[in-house]
Amino acid sequence: MSSNNTDNVVTPAFVKNFRKVTPYTPGEQPQRKVIKLNTNENPYGPAPGVEKVRNGIDIDVLRLYPELESASLSAAIAEYHGVPYEKVFAGVGSDDVLSMAFLTFFNSEKPIVFPDITYSFYPVWANVYKIPYREIPLKSDFTVDENDYFCENGGVVIANPNAPTSISMPLDKVEKIIRENRDVVVIIDEAYVDFGGETALGLVDKYQNLLVVRTFSKSRSMAGVRIGYAIGSEILIKALKDVKESVNSYTINTESIKMGIASIQDEDYFVEKVNQVVETRKWTASELEKLDFRVLDSSSNFLFASHAKMPAKDIFERLKEKDIFVRYFTKERIDNYLRITIGTGKEMELFIEALKSIIE
Ligand code: PMP
Repeated sequence: MSSNNTDNVVTPAFVKNFRKVTPYTPGEQPQRKVIKLNTNENPYGPAPGVEKVRNGIDIDVLRLYPELESASLSAAIAEYHGVPYEKVFAGVGSDDVLSMAFLTFFNSEKPIVFPDITYSFYPVWANVYKIPYREIPLKSDFTVDENDYFCENGGVVIANPNAPTSISMPLDKVEKIIRENRDVVVIIDEAYVDFGGETALGLVDKYQNLLVVRTFSKSRSMAGVRIGYAIGSEILIKALKDVKESVNSYTINTESIKMGIASIQDEDYFVEKVNQVVETRKWTASELEKLDFRVLDSSSNFLFASHAKMPAKDIFERLKEKDIFVRYFTKERIDNYLRITIGTGKEMELFIEALKSIIE
């Protein structure tokens, strides 16, 4: 018997208690072959050991739940950074780690603070977890003024190097922010640090309130595997694990745990590929400057650039017609900039050639 159409209605009372959020907008993932410079992925493959692990995976492990705490991967990360196991928390990409950190540490009635121009997921997590927040404007040159963070707040989040600006902040300024905010957790998101930033990892033993977040997605070419981690004092890591295990105990899967270990154990490959990206970044920046772009000083695997005459939106669209994808944000202050991920040398040559034909 067919049901009456009027039964199938959404009443206001029914939707009233849904959690309403505006989700994060990720960069496009076109499924056809394009020059993809829009989501800060690494153009090179992961370390060769990762492929070996993948090909050798015993199908029987899929029957079992993965290790709790991704223990062997956490141990490999701890060894790599020379910190105790108890100071490491691993998650499904740094988005998972950051999201858990927001949920765990930001329960104050005072607003958390982060820059107005930064990783656009921060306000999304604040909204979904109902955390009050205040965006602190970057200076006109897009750098962070550390003095702006010496204020009452419920927590601090700084991406260093910052995204999408690509600019890094000197460690002494980062330390001042951590020191001036001893009553709250300070998260330093180091997604791009391997490409030229100064890491705050050396401060973890000195400050109980510091949480450094890292990812395998950029410098380790493993965005599709989804591994991120945090390093911090034992009190922070214990609190993070308690919350995470109250949400979902088993997260990183067995295959990914093994692939992560293979990556972190191949330092030579890691250094070689990071250096290659940095070299290509330098070449690309100088070519862009020749074409009349203003290019911010990058410590990451992408460039943030604005053309002297042609609007960024027009360049973005013209590039897209040529199957070259870069990232364009409509946000005020940065709506005349393009964020350009560093691809292979060949891809960047094609990109520069395409720009030459676009820019009159
Ligand atoms: N932090 C920053 C600043 C980022 O740009 C990104 C990438 N979108 C992430 C964290 C998250 O990366 P992932 O979840 O792949 O580790």
